[in-house]
Amino acid sequence: MQGEEQPGTPVIKVRDLHKTFDRHEVLKGIDLTARVGEVTALIGGSGSGKSTTLRCLNLLEIPTRTRTFKLLGEDVAFRSSIRKGVEVVDKRQLRRLRSRLAMVFQSFNLWPHLTLEKNVMEAQVQVLGRAKDEARETARRLLDRVGLSDRRDMYPSYLSGGQQQRGAIARALAVDPEVMLFDEPTSALDPELVGEVLSVMKELAEEGRTMIIVTHEMKFAAEVADKVMFLNAGRVEEEGTSDQVFNAPRSERLKQFIQTIN
Ligand code: ADP
Ligand code: MG
Repeated sequence: MQGEEQPGTPVIKVRDLHKTFDRHEVLKGIDLTARVGEVTALIGGSGSGKSTTLRCLNLLEIPTRTRTFKLLGEDVAFRSSIRKGVEVVDKRQLRRLRSRLAMVFQSFNLWPHLTLEKNVMEAQVQVLGRAKDEARETARRLLDRVGLSDRRDMYPSYLSGGQQQRGAIARALAVDPEVMLFDEPTSALDPELVGEVLSVMKELAEEGRTMIIVTHEMKFAAEVADKVMFLNAGRVEEEGTSDQVFNAPRSERLKQFIQTIN
């Protein structure tokens, strides 16, 4: 599942990551290291830069500048021009790296015109070049894992939000990603549907998946994350084990944040 990588090997190593939108500096020097098999939770108030950090890691956003940007063992080089702004130098590398990461977003991002099974098959066929029969078999196995075997022929709009998110997780898993990124996967769900999605994510963590999760579910983060990073105004204000961060926070801002969210 994790290729040849040994537990503990850094899969993401980013130093001094900056991102500016229209002269507004949103990330002001983020350092982040994620290791094989580790679950990292990103927490922080709205607008603190959690989504932007995640999108930079996935190269959905291109950093304005960064000292080190190492993804899955590869150094990513950026160049900047007046016409195009900052971009990844090697476009093949960009595609290759993106195909080895998977992201699950807040709002349900299954393709509405495809059945659940076809949703889970699509990237396997298009990105990995798998044969249809094999892709279908994998899709069925993964849908079974997330408890959606009986829904595989349904279109997303007929599914509950929780089912759609579990479907999105199955789809993300279908390409055997080395790192899974989650951006508040439960925050658009009705409260009674949150648990079923968190329990699928917990299983993934327990089987040793490398995950970076932006979440407001503090109980979940405390339980599942190996490492918790608290972002404030585009900086990592505090980080540590979930025990340190939740039970012995040092920064006043983190103390306040934990109080308000509970
Ligand atoms: P969080 O996920 O922690 O709520 P975000 O990373 O989404 O925070 O946003 C951080 C800041 O960056 C916010 O002030 C937001 O308005 C701004 N921002 C995010 N994306 C863009 C964008 N594409 N263009 C301009 N500003 C953006
Ligand atoms: Mg966000």
